[in-house]
Amino acid sequence: MSNLPPNKEAERLRTRAPIRQPVPAYLPTGTNSPLTVDRKLYTKIQSSPRVLLSSFTLPIRSGKAWTAPAGSIIRISTPDGPQVGDLNIWNQHNPRERFWASRTRQLHSTHVSVGDRLWSCLPYMRPLVTIIADTLAWYGEDETGGRVHDLLGTRCDPYINTLLSGGSYDYHCHSNLTRAAVPFGLAETDVHDVINLFQVTGLDEKGRYFMNACPAEKGDYIEFLAEQDLLMALSTCPGGDLSLWEFGADSEKGMIQCCRPLKVEVFRLEDDEVLARSGWKPAEISKYRGNHGMVIPEGESQEK
Ligand SMILES: [Zn+2]
Repeated sequence: MSNLPPNKEAERLRTRAPIRQPVPAYLPTGTNSPLTVDRKLYTKIQSSPRVLLSSFTLPIRSGKAWTAPAGSIIRISTPDGPQVGDLNIWNQHNPRERFWASRTRQLHSTHVSVGDRLWSCLPYMRPLVTIIADTLAWYGEDETGGRVHDLLGTRCDPYINTLLSGGSYDYHCHSNLTRAAVPFGLAETDVHDVINLFQVTGLDEKGRYFMNACPAEKGDYIEFLAEQDLLMALSTCPGGDLSLWEFGADSEKGMIQCCRPLKVEVFRLEDDEVLARSGWKPAEISKYRGNHGMVIPEGESQEK
């Protein structure tokens, strides 16, 4: 609703200057751009022989965190069929450096796939991971405008659930990620906006967020190359494959029918030297060393 009188609104709309077809704001400017992934290099890394470092299956409606060294490959898969997963990522040694969903969305897209990177927050601003494989890349844009691997939304949480439905439920993704992070010395406040893996979302004609059912089948996966030492945490969303998603009392009980586990595997390359020989290096933090234009006084001003 506008505060302008209707005739004024119509006039503003009629006389608005035409708007040219926009171009994406952050298109890479050349082959040396940090946004331009060397596809040949990453394809080579992805297809090189690897050794399994660790593996676990995450049961439905739970959360778990794990570490992955720089240069390792993390595969997250759907072993029993469709299920969405909410992923958090931190620098292993400094949890203040963590995934920044909104900047990643600007730099790449609302939904990400092979060749896109997940970036860390300020004052670090470097890739946490690069996506090197995605068996759902074929999904593209569906007939409702939905796409997969969502950066538009965030995790489900008990606060909004209680606000909207009055219910109390302890196994939303936010809570699952909180419990997952605690054994690594982190707290609820370290949980941040996620990437919703295997989740199809979009905006309708009025810009409202929607979710479609997860298209994953048994054995679908997404793979990341760790661009630095990482701590990662995953939640198997209590909404399962989202085919029955709703808010309301007892909704969690019904949705359990569409909940399935997720599997996490961490690999290293059999030949560690492949990375170094190919010119790959762990990501470096942004070179900005300014102080935001501030001069910080040492103490009380001597001027009278
Ligand atoms: Zn969730």
